[in-house]
Amino acid sequence: MLDINKIVIPTPYPVGPVNAYLIKNQPLTLIDPGPETADALSSLQEGLSSLGVAVKDIERVVLTHNHSDHSGLAAWLAEQAQARVFIHKLEMRKLTFEYSYYQERYPFFFESGLPDSELKDILDDTDPVAKPVLPEPFIEAVTGGEELHFDGGSLQVLHLPGHTSGHICLYNPVGRELLAGDFMLKHITPNPVMEADYPDFSKRSPALRQFLDSLKKIAEMDVRINLPGHGENIDDNRALAEKSLQHHARRLAAIQNMLEEKSMNAYQVMRLLYPKIKGFQIFLGISEVFAHLDYLLGTGRITREEHKGIGIYYKKA
Ligand SMILES: [Zn+2]
Ligand SMILES: [Zn+2]
Repeated sequence: MLDINKIVIPTPYPVGPVNAYLIKNQPLTLIDPGPETADALSSLQEGLSSLGVAVKDIERVVLTHNHSDHSGLAAWLAEQAQARVFIHKLEMRKLTFEYSYYQERYPFFFESGLPDSELKDILDDTDPVAKPVLPEPFIEAVTGGEELHFDGGSLQVLHLPGHTSGHICLYNPVGRELLAGDFMLKHITPNPVMEADYPDFSKRSPALRQFLDSLKKIAEMDVRINLPGHGENIDDNRALAEKSLQHHARRLAAIQNMLEEKSMNAYQVMRLLYPKIKGFQIFLGISEVFAHLDYLLGTGRITREEHKGIGIYYKKA
């Protein structure tokens, strides 16, 4: 039996609080400790002490992915508790000093036709939390397929890319709990976030193809309860996975129809879908649109031509 406990941690982001999970079996393990803010730290400390656990007793931290709302406090825990931090290999470079979030995405912004003024709008909308950096000596890289052993059970590490390229979920085959990170959320559809592909950083990773393949795998799994990275538990895992697949199928069809009427670049498609968004939301909008355009292109449903470095998409009648 694994004793899995949820600790709700505040974040300064529109998504709302993040869920950390403490596994109260030996070795004491914390999944996604939350962002590096004073509020998050005090909530985590309170949550742990209400469960009778001291910070220094945490031996293992597992990060579902690099995003700072989940990963920020990992470095602090590594230092305070000498805890090992488990994370997928593809996420590690995103938690180093050298990594610049937008640097490798600039060519994609240019290719999208995004006006300079709106790129500035994205860049000016700075993250309220410092970028997390993991201390290298504490990192344990995983690639999926591993088993994390506990006194009284185990968790399987599942590499399920799509939200990020190195996103992992954890599955307890005995209790049939799925710790899903940002892969599935009850009230919002997670974004297939645009990122450079590994090892060819000049290309985008095929985020939506990965996301849909991972969703199909999750829909096939025997899950009693899905414990997500934000919001309430999901007790109808298969139904939600199928709903999410249908959502993307509808969005793919809608974008394909838009391109039958006229050819457009990614920015123009984004503005038709989201006329009013600003700041970081523009990045998420471009990210969402490219994910769907790349998928439509990859399956031969649309065509692309390039004019002065900007990709123009259309549907042959
Ligand atoms: Zn995320
Ligand atoms: Zn998140």
